[in-house]
Amino acid sequence: MSENADCPPPSFATAQVQAGYAAPAAPTSAVPPIYQSNAFALKSLTHARDLFAHRADGDVYARTGNPTATIFEQRITALEDGVAAAGIASGQAAVALTILALTGRGGHVVAANQLYGGTVDLLVETLPDWGIETTFVDQDDIDAWHAAVRPSTRLFFAETVANPIAQVLDVRAVADAAHAAGVPLVVDNTVATPYLQRPKRFGADISVHSATKFIGGHGTVIGGAIVDLGTFDFSAEPEKWPALTEPSRRIPSGESLLEHYRDTSPFIALIKAKHMHDLGPTLSATTAFALLQGLETLDIRMQRHAASAQRIAEHLATHPAVARVHHPGLAGNPWHDAAQTYLERGVPSVFSIDLHSTGDDEADFVRAETFIAGLKVLHLLANIGDARSIVTHPASMTHSHLSPQQLADGGISWATVRLSIGLEDADDLIADLDRALALL
Ligand SMILES: *Cc1c(COP(=O)(O)O)cnc(C)c1O
Repeated sequence: MSENADCPPPSFATAQVQAGYAAPAAPTSAVPPIYQSNAFALKSLTHARDLFAHRADGDVYARTGNPTATIFEQRITALEDGVAAAGIASGQAAVALTILALTGRGGHVVAANQLYGGTVDLLVETLPDWGIETTFVDQDDIDAWHAAVRPSTRLFFAETVANPIAQVLDVRAVADAAHAAGVPLVVDNTVATPYLQRPKRFGADISVHSATKFIGGHGTVIGGAIVDLGTFDFSAEPEKWPALTEPSRRIPSGESLLEHYRDTSPFIALIKAKHMHDLGPTLSATTAFALLQGLETLDIRMQRHAASAQRIAEHLATHPAVARVHHPGLAGNPWHDAAQTYLERGVPSVFSIDLHSTGDDEADFVRAETFIAGLKVLHLLANIGDARSIVTHPASMTHSHLSPQQLADGGISWATVRLSIGLEDADDLIADLDRALALL
């Protein structure tokens, strides 16, 4: 898409197909090519010196960037209405690098109880090895967010739509609480995607993604992204962010990243120049290409996912074998009002049902096993956001490392079964679910 001051900003559907790529003069590849190269041609030693000194923009070595990943970064930036993004090897690495970059040495995190299991593992086990501590709060308890703040707090972290229970975050209220504490709100926007929610509109500062899920959409690659939404002022309390505000040894002029990258994104510059460069979780060109293929159909896929899931949730809510459906598109769901505010275009297709509980975890597991074994169209997989419909048992799979208390805080029991509704015919999915529920 050509950058032209006379052009109005692109709409969502245009941005998802075109942002970040203009065909070069020659050769002219109409679609973004896979730049399958681990190093990039340098015009001269002077050019090389300028690139290494951050005086010129361009790719040097693919660990910190390649042109296909750059197109993906610019496209996800456009869709999130951000200022810059970093493509990362996985969603997990995107979360980890974001937290490392903000906490520095010994910083503290305030995070929602209702998080992806891998993020809980990272916060409770791996980051404490590096002196980074987390206080978990019920994400709907705004007083708890305020009360958890310490002098060393450096970020608030939550998912815009959590899973498996599909709690919808009150982004505005949590962003206000974060800003009152002088720290950014980082949201994991994986489940909503920027099509169903643009968190920047509601005050979030940084958005992270597992692009593995709906963004790729085809279940073929692992990837992630960190998007700086450009709203947080790191210069307000410079002593909190020395990696951004003190002279950087990576920039020979002696400037800080905040000074040197004041017109783009000091935060993404830090992620790339330090964390990607030093730790190495690079997004490959072939993965970036697959993610771009996915992004080009994001809106129409999300519309189908959301519409089918809404129909299936309404059907299951009336089914005698189902004790409860956790779908915020249903009237009476605790997050129904929040969904009206934050998910105007539809509710994501990842939600859960509770089968009737026997009161005994092992007996509930056996019932879930019977139900899942009866499914022929939905597949048992540890994934979400795929074109295929997926069933998962959180307590024994994705959330099996959580303590009984953490499971309860997340609203998960052994009778809970998570669904990720794909792109198949919704009637076929309903028939499949009915057949399997009849076995209980
Ligand atoms: C899958 C997932 C992650 C981790 O992403 P990977 O791409 O698997 O590393 C993080 N957050 C959420 C909400 C996820 O669903």
